[in-house]
Amino acid sequence: MSQVHTLRSYVLGSWHEASSDFVPLVDPSTEEEIARASSSGIDFQSVLKYAREHGGPSLRAMTFAERAAMLKELSKALRDHRDELLELSRRNAGTTDADGAFDIDGAGGTLAYYASVGKKLGHRHALADDDGTQLAKTEAFWACHARVPRHGVAVAINAFNFPAWGLAEKAACAWLAGVPVIAKPATATAWVTERWVEILLETGVLPDGALQLICGGTGDLLSHLGSQDLLAFTGSADTALKLRGGDNLQRCSTRVNVEADSLNTAVLAPGVGPDDDLYGLFIKDVCREITQKTGQKCTAIRRIFVPRDLLDAVQHDLVVRLRKTVTGNPGDESVRMGPLATAQQLFDAEHGVDELEGDGAVKIYGSGKRCDGVGSEKGKGFFFGPVLLRLDEPVDAELVHTREVFGPVATLMPYDGKAEQAARFVALADGTLVTSVYSDDAAWLAEFTAGASPYTGRIYVGSSGSAGFGSGAALPQSQHGGPGRAGGGSELGGLAGLDPYLQRIALQGDRAVVESLLGAETEDSTTS
Ligand code: NAP
Repeated sequence: MSQVHTLRSYVLGSWHEASSDFVPLVDPSTEEEIARASSSGIDFQSVLKYAREHGGPSLRAMTFAERAAMLKELSKALRDHRDELLELSRRNAGTTDADGAFDIDGAGGTLAYYASVGKKLGHRHALADDDGTQLAKTEAFWACHARVPRHGVAVAINAFNFPAWGLAEKAACAWLAGVPVIAKPATATAWVTERWVEILLETGVLPDGALQLICGGTGDLLSHLGSQDLLAFTGSADTALKLRGGDNLQRCSTRVNVEADSLNTAVLAPGVGPDDDLYGLFIKDVCREITQKTGQKCTAIRRIFVPRDLLDAVQHDLVVRLRKTVTGNPGDESVRMGPLATAQQLFDAEHGVDELEGDGAVKIYGSGKRCDGVGSEKGKGFFFGPVLLRLDEPVDAELVHTREVFGPVATLMPYDGKAEQAARFVALADGTLVTSVYSDDAAWLAEFTAGASPYTGRIYVGSSGSAGFGSGAALPQSQHGGPGRAGGGSELGGLAGLDPYLQRIALQGDRAVVESLLGAETEDSTTS
């Protein structure tokens, strides 16, 4: 048995190793304990103070362009260590190289993107939102809106499925805005985050206190958050509900941004048949979204709606494609889908399928139970093959629209082909992160989009001219987040991604004075 690695936290400017209360981390392909984590011994109030007194002032002293240059360096460092992180992700999270790259490259790409956003903002400390408005007869009474960095800390709590990207998408925006970050990755996959944080710190470009890392529980950290702080949470709706109810968060109006569960939908519009290329794209995208990262993606497709007369054809074609998925140890070259990340995820996926069946869905493909994995010892590993369910009367069931099975599981359902009904079925999930729709019919798409838009954070349209990337990637240029059960939060989406970390202010006074407060660019002190 190889040595068990003890994860450390990075707090108050140095690495902290706990001596008790450890939680084991296991290789999900072998169930071997590979690491352990604990945050015992950390004084969380001091961690917050350190970020507020060191990281915040140093970041705010830098201009947007200087912080952008810093992000660029961090992105390069990640790229330089890509292979090492992919290997670690394979052991710690059970990812294939392609699935690990989705996380690691996504993290690097997000940092690089925000580096380019920040460079364009230039050497300024505040962002003017508008050109201003005259409030009286002369310009002696003028108003404009601006955004400035808040003086608090961003506590970034992330889910187990994106140990690198999850932190990057929060930290890139926080740092560019001038706000320090305390990262709290999900314990199960925190080794990847620990190593990544080490790589970021080794660059030497992050000011002291700009990044701290908690491996293990958060103790009383959240109860000390105040009015300038932000809790940026990604995880299950149940945990979100618990955390956002904190007395101090409500008393201080602490900002809380939540990215939670989502029963994302794919819709095939009428008029797209098995002979069409667009139909082929739909089948390919849906299967990828079911199996990528073993279905452990917040953006994965959970519900599939097709016109009733195409139900059998789509079922057949999805099954043919899903059959090609080889499930097993990512170390084996033939494997296309790794294990679920933890024993808990396996337990939850098995129960989730049982619950959907209990609600009327019929299993078409897959066992819905643990299986042995290719390249792994018999009886070991959290392997769980793809599952396709079918439900012929979508309105008769509830769980299929509300129970997120966080694994390679989706349910195929019919609708009447009308845009109005498809949009209404999307809405049954009460708020999702992403909805994908496949059609070349502009009028149908317009009606569907109008009906579905209030219930989803992003609509991906697959059409004959589309590039075929699919709906799964949360790209930094587009908003990530959705209403209702998806958490009601909003992240990324270009410059808007900085909003949670900035304070919007209306500035009033004589026009010349107001503009001088906002317009000033300082000297370029960056080297890149
Ligand atoms: P989870 O159990 O809710 O945990 C999420 C994070 O919260 C982890 O870091 C966890 O730490 C932490 N946490 C749990 N209880 C806490 C507490 N009392 N105080 C402070 N932190 C606490 O979710 P998960 O199992 O990691 O992730 C799966 C879920 O995340 C799925 O439902 C998925 O849909 C959702 N997700 C959403 C998005 C999105 O962008 N919308 C993205 C990815 C995943 P420990 O690990 O130490 O318990």
